[in-house]
This record gives sequence, structure tokens and C-alpha cells, in this order.
Amino acid sequence: MKRSVEKYTEFETVPLWVGNRAVQATSTRNGEVTNPATGAVIRYVPMSNVVDVDRAVKAAEAALPAWRAATPTHRARVLQNFLALLRANENELAHRVSEEHGKTVADAAGSLQRGIEVVEFACGVPHLLKGEHSENVGSGVDCYTLRQPVGVCAGITPFNFPVMVPLWMFPVSIACGNSFVLKPSEKDPSASVRMAELLKQAGLPDGVMNVVHGDKEAVDAILQHPGIAAVSFVGSTPIAKYIYETCARNGKRVQALGGAKNHAVVLPDADLDFTVDALIGAGYGSAGERCMAISAIVAVGAIADPLVEKLRAKAESIKIGPGDQAGVDMGPLVTGAHRDKVASYIDLGEREGAKLVKDGRDIKVAGYENGFYLGTTLFDHVTPQMTIYKDEIFGPVLIVLRVPTLEEAVRLINANPYANGTAVFTASGGAARRFQNDVEVGMVGINIPIPVPMAFYSFGGWKNSLFGDLHIHGTEGIKFYTRTKTITARWTDAGTPAPGLNMPTLG
Ligand code: NAD
Repeated sequence: MKRSVEKYTEFETVPLWVGNRAVQATSTRNGEVTNPATGAVIRYVPMSNVVDVDRAVKAAEAALPAWRAATPTHRARVLQNFLALLRANENELAHRVSEEHGKTVADAAGSLQRGIEVVEFACGVPHLLKGEHSENVGSGVDCYTLRQPVGVCAGITPFNFPVMVPLWMFPVSIACGNSFVLKPSEKDPSASVRMAELLKQAGLPDGVMNVVHGDKEAVDAILQHPGIAAVSFVGSTPIAKYIYETCARNGKRVQALGGAKNHAVVLPDADLDFTVDALIGAGYGSAGERCMAISAIVAVGAIADPLVEKLRAKAESIKIGPGDQAGVDMGPLVTGAHRDKVASYIDLGEREGAKLVKDGRDIKVAGYENGFYLGTTLFDHVTPQMTIYKDEIFGPVLIVLRVPTLEEAVRLINANPYANGTAVFTASGGAARRFQNDVEVGMVGINIPIPVPMAFYSFGGWKNSLFGDLHIHGTEGIKFYTRTKTITARWTDAGTPAPGLNMPTLG
């Protein structure tokens, strides 16, 4: 069958993208990509091997000298073209995400918008790459810094944001003058190849952006490849830790963002209706498959009973169905195996003695009997010892813990090994300020349930939610994708004294 760049989705198997064209993998091992709404296999994805990864890295290495030498303004202009193409193809990309991931098209469009904001940020790279300069640090000596690209960078991304999370990485990396190899999730891989096509249309030179697919085999080939200088990872905590340790051992720069258990603290003075709406959206949006989803609600004092009652009523009203159907609030989970795993946590919560206020296990979506659906679920009277509190469930399961004071709530959150996001709902500025100061979490919302920073701030958690020193995008992203070079310069005139044998003393 003839391969065409524009029409690659006609093919059964999603291609790799190497040297600015769709290519077939040498690996013969394939995975299945399913439509979670119907449960049907819709295409295959090649599981790249060491040869496929090496081909992509070689293309990226070949592209590097010219791309690094291109002016930052030129690189920004290519990204401006890409930005326009992302906007022009927004609807198609959102449908592609919904088809392979299951989330609603409107939610997919929202996540694309958050990714587009990173491209907007990266278009400012001529300004962002400016270094520091000090005149006369010694007699006749000036000192200044340059920010230079690190080389070939790799991105390894999770299933839950197949467009947004890659967009956290490659626009900033290539804006800084690096070339890139992306390994998206094997569960929803095709949007990444589509974005690479758009980059080509935007004028990105051959080899600057490459896409390989697959699982551990492809990831290990990236981690071992001597040509790769830096790795950005987003996914679950055990894999994030593995990526961090392996990259450190292999001398690669690394940022590895992991899983989460995000708490929302509701104080007795919170605006109850507003808070309930916020928690329902943050807990059940995208079927709870968001790293910043609220999964644990910490009710302080007497607000617990009315809060749980209102949450139950709202959870009942959520319409579940295929993500591309009008009026649907929540789509299916990503795979049958993941749906079953989340359902098994509901079984476990009951056995552990939590109070099951709303059970999502018996859901039926007419006409979509093979889809991977699970209804909204709510547990009350959960304790910190229970597995449904300790584990990241990553599904539409909200749990409520009850504590007497704000201080107890903060102690609970700070004892949790995850520390991605958290939120407090209150009418008290003093309480909110105490919370933001005392809580040991990377991103904090005040009456904001999902405090995802805008692209010009950096995104990242603490503790087991991020291994590495630098957060993603924003100025920390620029730091991650550049190396600082410090120049100390003297221009001699007739009569400039020659240096002696002793260390010079400044001044
Ligand atoms: P995952 O860890 O299973 O997979 C992430 C990536 O790692 C994928 O590309 C996958 O192919 C690869 N991978 C999987 N197993 C591997 C192995 N054994 N060795 C090497 N590579 C491997 O994560 P997921 O299920 O795709 O995504 C959900 C997870 O991602 C959740 O834990 C969620 O909290 C987390 N996440 C975190 C953030 C954040 O910003 N901290 C954002 C999005 C998702």
C-alpha cells in the first residue's frame, strides 16, 4: 500500500516519524490501539526496538548543527507557524485524542489549548535565552553567560494527555536549539505523529523532530543511547524513579514526573455549592485519569455531612457515554484492563470498611456494551491506613477523609509520599495563607481545584511526584533544555599588565 505523509491513518499501523517522514519500524512486534468507547481495536502500533531508536537518534544528531546555528528568531517563527497549524487542526486533534483515549472531545480540546499555550510561551525564546552580563568583574575583565542547547533530547509520555504532555516538552526543547525524539504512550500514539507532520508543514527542518513508539524496549533503548543528552519523562512513580536512576547512571540530564494523590481540603467556611462543583469536575473529569485530578477530599469539621450529601447527588447526575457524543460529561477509561483495575479498588474499599456512598460498578451504556466504562464512585469515612487512600487509583473514584482541624489536614497531606497538587477551599485568607506556606506539595490551589500553572510558570510536584531538580516548561523548562556557559573576557590594550603566577585578586 502506498504510504503518504498526509494520510497515514489509512494504514493499519501508526508509523514512526524519522527525518521528517513517516517510516515503518524494523521491529515486527505490534501493540493494539483500542477505541475505549467501543472496545474495538482501531489500529496497531509498532513496538520500536534498538534499531528504530538508533535511526531516530541518528536523524536528530544529523539535524542538530544547523538547527542549533539557526537564529532563535528563526526557530521562534517556525513555532509560530506550528501554532497556527495547531489552531487550524484543533478539532481533528481533539477527536483523535478522544478516539484513542476516551475523554470527551470538549475535554480533549481543553487539554490541547493548555498545550498550545506552551507553544505560545516557546515563541518567546529569543527573549528567554538571554543570559547575564557583568561589566568589569576584574580590571578590564567582563563576564557573561550563554544558554546553549544540550543536544538530542528525548521525551517519554503517558497515555492520559497524548497531546498536552508532549507539548510540555518538544516546543521548548526545539525552541532552545535542540533536536528531539518523542516516545508517546503506546495506548494513544497517533496524535504525536500528526503533530510531527504539522511541524514539517510549519517549516521545521528534517530530523529536528522524530517519533518512535513502543514500550519498555524502546524506552530502554533511549535510556542507553549515548547520543541522547537529556530525557523528560511523565508517567507513573515507579517508572519515573527507574527513568531517573537509569539516566543518572548513564550521565543524562533528567526530569521525571511521577504519579499523584491530590488532596482537596474543605474548611467549614467554604462556599459549599461552588466547592462541590469544583470537586466533581476535578475528581471525575477525564474519568479521573488526570495527574492533577483531586482524588482525596479532606473534610474539616462539621462540613463533612452536607459536603458528602451534595457530592453524592452531583455524582449521580453525571452523564457517561462515548466521548464524541453531545451531552456526555465523562467518557470511558483508557483500556479494559485499567477499568478492571479501578473496579477492583472499589471492591477493596468495601472490604477495607470504607462507606460506599455511590457505586459506579454497575454501569451500562446502551449500544456500547464492549466499551471500558465505569460509573462515578464515592467513598466516605476513608482512613489513611486504607489501600484506597494510599494508592493512586487513577479512575473516577473520589474518597472522603474526615479530620477535625486544618492543622490535621496539613499533617495528613505532608505525610503522603505523593506531592503533585493540592487545594484548599475556604473563605479565610489567613487559613489559605497558612495552608500555602505549610503544605509540602509542588502546586497549590486556593479555591482552585486543579492548580495547573500556565505555560509561563513551571509545572511539577515534589517528593514521589517528581524526580529531578527542574520542573517542566516555564523558565525551569528553558533551564532544563539549555546548558549555561560562562565567559570571562579581557581585551588587551598596549600597557595591559601581563598576568603573573599568583591567583589574581579581584578589584
Ligand atoms: P506509565 O508509567 O505506565 O507510562 C508512561 C510511559 O512510560 C509510557 O510512554 C510507557 O510506554 C512507558 N513505560 C511503561 N512501563 C515502562 C517500563 N516498565 N519501563 C520503561 N518504560 C515504561 O504511565 P501511564 O499509565 O501511561 O500514565 C498514567 C500515570 O502518569 C499516572 O501515574 C499519572 O499520575 C502520571 N502522570 C503524571 C503527570 C505529572 O505531571 N506528574 C502527568 C500525567 C500523568
